[in-house]
Amino acid sequence: PFDLAGRTALVTGGSRGLGAAYVRALHTAGASVVVADLLDDEGTALVDALGPRAAFLHLDVTDEAGWDAVVAGALERFGGIDVLVNNAGIANAAPIEHYSMAKWNAVIAVNLTGTFLGCRAVVPAMADAGGGSIINISSVEGLRGSPGLHGYTAAKFGVRGLTKSLAVELGPRGIRVNSVHPGLILTDMTTRIDPERIDIPLGRAGTPDDVAGTIVFLASDASRFTSGAEFVVDGGMVT
Ligand code: NAD
Repeated sequence: PFDLAGRTALVTGGSRGLGAAYVRALHTAGASVVVADLLDDEGTALVDALGPRAAFLHLDVTDEAGWDAVVAGALERFGGIDVLVNNAGIANAAPIEHYSMAKWNAVIAVNLTGTFLGCRAVVPAMADAGGGSIINISSVEGLRGSPGLHGYTAAKFGVRGLTKSLAVELGPRGIRVNSVHPGLILTDMTTRIDPERIDIPLGRAGTPDDVAGTIVFLASDASRFTSGAEFVVDGGMVT
């Protein structure tokens, strides 16, 4: 039931970090993969290494028209979109008095509006195909509060809420929608965080591959009766 042969998965922010690990794992499970990201060089190198079942398409997830082009491009190349992973994200931290409007707008636009636009853009293709799986990347910061992360926390709680309304609305059309909540994962986003200062019951920070198995599970028929659910992948950190 974990086999993704014949399926197509689109991963935003797939050029590096967690997204690139999701792309590799979905590809290994048999899917064709579309990497949609701002980072052209990294994304192109990744899909070149994977071969013909992989394509890179440039996308700013906050760009409504850009989404139309990416969905059209994915359909033209692979004939369908069965899985969408809304993974593109940015984190901006500052004490509230220094949290500028520009920071707030950017973080809401990429993490929350980008996820909304992605879900909306793939629904027609998924509904036509009789179903699909949308995986929205939230965070442990979509489950609790943390100092300085105001816009990020608001956006990630928003992603969690958006997942629920979509799961209820789209279930009758066979589309499952779930959220994933990674804990501290070592990527470019978290280089300034010292894992030693964080209490993680499993005793270490995570790597992108630690989260990828949950993504393959949610993409596949192994999770066929799961929708509107939250998957915390944090080594026991928020318990
Ligand atoms: P990262 O910075 O390494 O990668 C983010 C990717 O998103 C990059 O490839 C970047 O180019 C892309 N991106 C950023 N803005 C974009 C835009 N407007 N349009 C298209 N692509 C865009 O970060 P990461 O750690 O791999 O994070 C991936 C996701 O996981 C994010 O949503 C993040 O919030 C979430 N997350 C990360 C952690 C962690 O500890 N690293 C924990 C919980 C959740």
